Amino acid sequence: MQKYKIAIVGSGIIGMTLALQLSTINHINITLFGKKPKYSEFKTTAILATSFNLYERLLGLDKSQLQISKLKKFKIIDELKTKKKIIDFDAEEINLDSFAYNIRDNFLADRLYKEIRNNDSIIFKGEFIEGLEDNLNSTILNTSDGAAEFDLVIGADGRNSIIRELAEINYSKKTYKESILVTEIDHSIPNNNTSFEIHRNGSLLTSVPTSNKKSAIVMIDDSEKIDSLDWDNLNKIINDSLSTYLGNTITNNKYSILPSETINVEKLYRNRVILVGESAHVIPPIGAQGLNLGLRDIITFSNLLLDNDAKDPGTKSILSSYNNMRWLDIYKRYKSVNLLYQSMMNNNVGYSAVRNIGFLTLNRSRRIRNILLTEGLSLNK
Ligand SMILES: Cc1cc2nc3c(=O)[nH]c(=O)nc-3n(C[C@H](O)[C@H](O)[C@H](O)COP(=O)(O)OP(=O)(O)OC[C@H]3O[C@@H](n4cnc5c(N)ncnc54)[C@H](O)[C@@H]3O)c2cc1C
Repeated sequence: MQKYKIAIVGSGIIGMTLALQLSTINHINITLFGKKPKYSEFKTTAILATSFNLYERLLGLDKSQLQISKLKKFKIIDELKTKKKIIDFDAEEINLDSFAYNIRDNFLADRLYKEIRNNDSIIFKGEFIEGLEDNLNSTILNTSDGAAEFDLVIGADGRNSIIRELAEINYSKKTYKESILVTEIDHSIPNNNTSFEIHRNGSLLTSVPTSNKKSAIVMIDDSEKIDSLDWDNLNKIINDSLSTYLGNTITNNKYSILPSETINVEKLYRNRVILVGESAHVIPPIGAQGLNLGLRDIITFSNLLLDNDAKDPGTKSILSSYNNMRWLDIYKRYKSVNLLYQSMMNNNVGYSAVRNIGFLTLNRSRRIRNILLTEGLSLNK
């Protein structure tokens, strides 16, 4: 049987997961381009229960492993008005043990990398892509090492995707005036597998369990304010915000600062190129969405290849089906998460109304709460 050649550009979490997922399909050969990734030591990702089985299957991850923290409950604390409003979510509401599993990006990336290196069906090229020539018949990738031809190129090269640029796929990008700070805290009261999300005028502070008395912190606030923080006032802000729930907190004296931005592409393919993960969509880190969207890109595309056994993976019918099956899901989440983000960060009356309706709906609607717990935040699904 003819073997078709697929190149995956980008060996981040999405690129490596995709390579492993596709490696079992008989009629393709996979080449993965990129260097072993190194994420911020504080960056963790909550993988929704509905996606976690992918890693149980590909990596043999076990939910009771020390490096994996179960998220059984979360509390949204709205401090926008003088009177606090609290909404509680519990995985038991939807008969699940946990609604998500929190894992350090570096731990997951190391496990994926090890598995890739042991997988004979994946050719790993530790090089960056510098050029792309594509048309409807073939696609050529250029590296410092030379050129190679593929039947399909998959851009998994993150938010600054060179593949998206070279394939001339149109996109919109917005950089918000806020920045994202990630760090970790020790706390005196166990978190009880609970994530806390504190909404204030113009800021958001989230804690996500990394062990019993440790939680990862994601803080979104005005860039100037974040840039001017020193450890003492960061420690104080976090302690003042979370001590009611977690007791005394001590913040790690190191932290990373990331830009707050969103990206949305006009379509997910062109000629013999498709995009997956953050090369196709970037949304603010609210409600465990970003990676989970990328994992759904992977499952959708892999199922399409399985359904089209022995067919050229770069044909238009497959690529446009991928686009049709993924675009709306991505767009809806892009819209709803950005609307929610703006309603938190913006004091404008219109946004406050949206936010109040969102809170009321979340409090009262069992269906919306179920969607939130199983598929992440999408108020307009
Ligand atoms: C603070 C924060 C918290 C988050 N929390 C969650 C969460 O709880 N749940 C969730 O689902 N999502 C979360 N996300 C989103 C999630 O982290 C991202 O969606 C995910 O990591 C994106 O993975 P990726 O592989 O698409 O991109 P990346 O991790 O950026 O990987 C892209 C890779 O491509 C490589 N590359 C770039 N250019 C080239 C080239 N020319 N040639 C070869 N390789 C190249 C890069 O070196 C990199 O390794 C969060 C995001 C942030 C910022």
